[in-house]
Amino acid sequence: MRYLITGAAGFLGAPLANRLIQAGHRVVGLDDLSTGDPERLSSEVHLVRGDVNDRPKLWSLLQDVDCVYHLAARVIVPESVLYPSEYNQVNVGGTVSLMEAMRDVGVRRVVFVSSGTIYGNQRTQPLRESCRPNPRSPYAVSKLSAEYYIRSIGDLWGIETVCLRVFNAYGPGQRMPPTNAPVIPYCIRQALDHGTIVVHGEGKQTRDYVYIDDVVDAMAAASSMPDINRLIINVGSGKETSVNDIIKRVVEITHAKPEIVMNKTHDSGPARMCADLGLAKRKLGFSPKVSLAEGLKRTIESDPRFRKK
Ligand code: NAD
Repeated sequence: MRYLITGAAGFLGAPLANRLIQAGHRVVGLDDLSTGDPERLSSEVHLVRGDVNDRPKLWSLLQDVDCVYHLAARVIVPESVLYPSEYNQVNVGGTVSLMEAMRDVGVRRVVFVSSGTIYGNQRTQPLRESCRPNPRSPYAVSKLSAEYYIRSIGDLWGIETVCLRVFNAYGPGQRMPPTNAPVIPYCIRQALDHGTIVVHGEGKQTRDYVYIDDVVDAMAAASSMPDINRLIINVGSGKETSVNDIIKRVVEITHAKPEIVMNKTHDSGPARMCADLGLAKRKLGFSPKVSLAEGLKRTIESDPRFRKK
């Protein structure tokens, strides 16, 4: 098959591109390299530098493509609070541009990588896809809007659509923005640099941390499975872990002694988040294989700062 991956040089896009190449497919990547790194990609991926809102470029790249993976996005939640219009332009506008171009060229399927953040605070856990979304940040709103556009344009123009709501992905090579999210790379960096770990709230808030290889398994399955048109499917570990537990595990593996500061008055986001994986199991044959203990070990051991110790 021939694939286009937007955001191909990113943390999730690159291992997906490399996996598809390994499986014998042809892969074209589109990435503006704002946060992506082409060094992550196999030399067999044809990477084109460009913006996901550049329609002429999209039209030319989509020729002969069987399936699109749409990952290009701005992804830092606190940044989205400061610059919501930018998030809207890239995450929503870019999605609409892509869908229009797919309609014009006649591409069969798109797999959109959405986010578990669209659930926000919910009374019951684990989170089923049928929950009413409660997005809290402009980032989460942009991902939910993109889901709606994908499904609506897909339905109107006969494009098969699948939305994967990925929870907190982590693993080697995850880029660390100058904020204290995402939690795992932040804690690892602070521990290895003998820094201070600042916790928002009391650290009791839970998230569903899913290892990168498991996310790639789910994404890879979503382009070939039958009978999944229009589905929205959670991708997580199915387990919830508190921030305090992440810190404890990182400290154990790194043998570091970071100072831990609790910023109890700071908004710590939803109290709990845990993905229900029933649909992913049934429709994608997905079941996560890498435990948190193993995933953290692999992530920390691959960090050049840990290897130097
Ligand atoms: P990332 O920042 O590593 O990847 C995003 C990629 O998109 C980067 O390579 C970046 O250069 C590219 N990009 C940004 N703006 C672009 C534009 N205008 N045109 C073309 N390319 C552009 O982040 P990631 O963690 O790999 O996220 C990939 C996707 O997965 C995103 O859509 C994100 O919302 C989604 N997601 C990620 C997670 C996670 O935990 N990492 C969880 C849920 C959903």
